[in-house]
Amino acid sequence: MTKDATLAIVVPCYNEEDMLPQSLPVLLQTLDSLIDKAKISADSRLYLVDDGSRDNTWALIDRACDAHDGRVVGVKLSRNKGHQNALLAGLEATDEDIIVSIDADLQDDPSNIERMVDEYHAGNDVVYGVRAARDTDTFFKRFTAEGYYSLMRKMGVDLVFNHADFRLMSRRALNALLEYRESQLFLRGMVREVGFPSSTVEYDRQSRAAGETKYPLRKMLSFAWHGISSFSTAPLRAITLLGIIASGLSLLMIVWVLGTRLFTDNAIPGWASILVPLLFIGSVQLLSLGIIGEYLAKMFEELKQRPRYHLERIKTSKPRENDV
Ligand code: UDP
Ligand code: MG
Repeated sequence: MTKDATLAIVVPCYNEEDMLPQSLPVLLQTLDSLIDKAKISADSRLYLVDDGSRDNTWALIDRACDAHDGRVVGVKLSRNKGHQNALLAGLEATDEDIIVSIDADLQDDPSNIERMVDEYHAGNDVVYGVRAARDTDTFFKRFTAEGYYSLMRKMGVDLVFNHADFRLMSRRALNALLEYRESQLFLRGMVREVGFPSSTVEYDRQSRAAGETKYPLRKMLSFAWHGISSFSTAPLRAITLLGIIASGLSLLMIVWVLGTRLFTDNAIPGWASILVPLLFIGSVQLLSLGIIGEYLAKMFEELKQRPRYHLERIKTSKPRENDV
């Protein structure tokens, strides 16, 4: 791991016209200062991925490529494919030795990249950015996030607590990650699967400086469930357990009903004893079918082996071998 390692910073951007004018100079400045300190090679680059934005994002990226001779690479996807796919497209476009992924909104302060690069030079292949405090989050987001991470851990999924997608990877770690062919990505879980020496860098997350979040509650919940169903079959096991418990309870109820009928005089067939097991078993069955259906749907999606994105353009002012 030499000091002339090249660095790529990869930034997925979706409708970030309000944010890019602020984040671009900061990110370029981060690169420059690392080069000045001789921590990375002068041949390092910023990759901006336009994830099918509907606003002026590509025009801004296009201009940045022209303005910063060879320092900025623009990657344009054919349509909006979501944060994880956009990030993957950026990662696959790089050929640098060190790769850092970061959001466009400066919530993860780019000044922490220097500490990540130091960790890389200390021999780590993966450096996870970990949020020290969640002060800038609402109580709701903090509460659900904490519950989620501990639920994932209980189900045997190895996640770094409070780590999202702000991280550094070495070329060999990234190459290993790119061997994973699933079409529905949960990168923070996949990187853990890859292994290699790793460390963490703690930082305070800021709130978004401009534009609005592209992850409303609905998307957040769906991403959370996707993380669980891609990495754990525990919910299927839970169904079996629920089924066993429900059967046990029904058995007890049957014994009680029969006992009342055969050995007592107050055997007025009550609606409760019919309704309770009916509702209970009915709901357990529905829930179970739903969860099994979710996994089936996932298998269906993966079976299709569709490409995860299509490139419309790669733009850089310096000629590169893998231009399209
Ligand atoms: N993003 C993307 N495609 C999408 C949604 C988001 O590339 O479909 C990018 C977005 O531009 C940002 C990053 O993913 O750089 C994280 O999104 P955001 O900040 O809105 O999420 P939050 O921080 O609120 O979870
Ligand atoms: Mg954000």
